[in-house]
Amino acid sequence: MAKSLVEETKRITAQFEYTDDDVNRGVLEFLRQMNEGLQNDGTSLSQIPTYVTGVPNGTEKGLYMAVDLGGTNFRVCSVHLNGDSTFDLTYNKVAIPKELMVAKTSKELFGFLAKQIELFLKEHHEEHFEAHQRRRKSSKAPEGYETENLFQLGFTFSFPVQQFGINKGSLIRWTKGFDIPDAIGKDVCALLQEEIDLLHLPVKVAALVNDTVGTLMARSYAAPGKTSTLIGAIFGTGTNGAYVEKITNLQKSVDGDYNKSTGEMVINTEWGSFDNQLNVLPSTPYDKKLDQDSVNPGIQIFEKRVSGMFLGEIARLAILDLYEKPTLSLFKDANSNNNDGKATSRVGEGSGLFQQWGLDSSLMSIAVGDTTPDLSSLRKELESELQIRSASVEEAQAFKDIAYAIGRRAARLSAVALGSIVIQSGRLTETKDESVDIGADGSLVEYYPSFRDMIYEAFKIIKDIGAEGADRIKIGIAKDGSGVGAALIALVAANMEEEETKDTLAALKNATAQKLAGAIPSVGASTTLA
Ligand code: ADP
Ligand code: MG
Repeated sequence: MAKSLVEETKRITAQFEYTDDDVNRGVLEFLRQMNEGLQNDGTSLSQIPTYVTGVPNGTEKGLYMAVDLGGTNFRVCSVHLNGDSTFDLTYNKVAIPKELMVAKTSKELFGFLAKQIELFLKEHHEEHFEAHQRRRKSSKAPEGYETENLFQLGFTFSFPVQQFGINKGSLIRWTKGFDIPDAIGKDVCALLQEEIDLLHLPVKVAALVNDTVGTLMARSYAAPGKTSTLIGAIFGTGTNGAYVEKITNLQKSVDGDYNKSTGEMVINTEWGSFDNQLNVLPSTPYDKKLDQDSVNPGIQIFEKRVSGMFLGEIARLAILDLYEKPTLSLFKDANSNNNDGKATSRVGEGSGLFQQWGLDSSLMSIAVGDTTPDLSSLRKELESELQIRSASVEEAQAFKDIAYAIGRRAARLSAVALGSIVIQSGRLTETKDESVDIGADGSLVEYYPSFRDMIYEAFKIIKDIGAEGADRIKIGIAKDGSGVGAALIALVAANMEEEETKDTLAALKNATAQKLAGAIPSVGASTTLA
């Protein structure tokens, strides 16, 4: 009996094997889909331009604000960048009242957000706030305040938006239980700014931020030395990544203004939708069932094999399959079966094992992390988390093996995405010994045992990376990414505006100079003034 449990477990874990050849095929396809997305709209990798055209190097200084509207909480913070890769962060967090998530008008929600910003300023930056109010009253400026007295604010907004400027983007649709119809199609930065202005707060919404871009910026600021980070990656509830691309590779049209002088732009890949068409991604019966029963079948196919929200569900379906095998005795009391002819399940009726999304991926981390010979902590967790009572060591081992196989496949798939971007960037070949830096955030990469090591291991067998290349790639966890990252993007935006003002002045000067000289510049003559 025990033997067949071992064999059946092996049969399942074998289906999650993602071989070296698979990894290399995945990389080729990822590169193809990346480049397709740089050329056209409506491809599976969206490759969204973010209008962020540079990454910080750790020397940035100043006081900025950031807000983060997630699914459940609203975070307001101020970040003091010390200019030496360190920062001081102050924040308030409030739960978003349920009724505001389905408010009649967007004004109600955004008015609430502005009010929270006001409370935060009064609590933590009263001097600045009061000074601003005084200045404002005596100011002769048409807006009633002077630009230099404003807090520049980065707005992390975790809903789908079509961005058309560094601080402009219209809401495509609400998700995560929000439903305020009149906000659809509106510029969310303008909605927030209007409410901020009604309260006369010294705050300018300077940047609209995706969490992957925030992670990239935060890591680039905090990374040791002068290294500039290439990728910001999220492995949490969902998965996604943003990276620095050469503007020459971005061939589809980009609306609006952006700073072209760096030659680079951060691209939000939306890699959760990589290979929705299933050209190369693996698909077990468990993956298929998960997708069919999801709210969005056929999309976010890569995410459904990689991120925290889904790994637990894949594991649940695989374990349930074992459990339902009549010939096996997984989590069933074989003795009572002999005694009264009735199988007395040792799994409680209300167990998450029998409910969609009933197994949280954090339990997989506990399973894989339990290295005791009798798997005592895992068996305790199985009981408290899944009502699986007095599981044997063999049964717990089967659970652990399955959790390991699913997590390992996820890590190797993550290596496909990250490795492809490293190759696309050319950074391994353009420099000889500099490291290639990746910032990562999310509970999966932070807590699943050896998740990063399994990624490095897969990098080694990718043809265009190899062992030497893999040694040069560093993945660092970006702490407080949404706050620090958004603040840094606000800084970039403020600098951009300054540059633009300079450019406009330069153009004016240039035009005046030409008028004075009464000449049209000859071909090849420079028309820009430094
Ligand atoms: P968010 O994505 O909302 O920013 P997190 O990064 O914390 O939040 O990710 C939450 C996801 O990570 C959930 O799907 C949860 O199941 C999963 N998760 C939480 N803790 C762990 C853990 N210790 N190991 C693996 N997955 C985890
Ligand atoms: Mg997150």
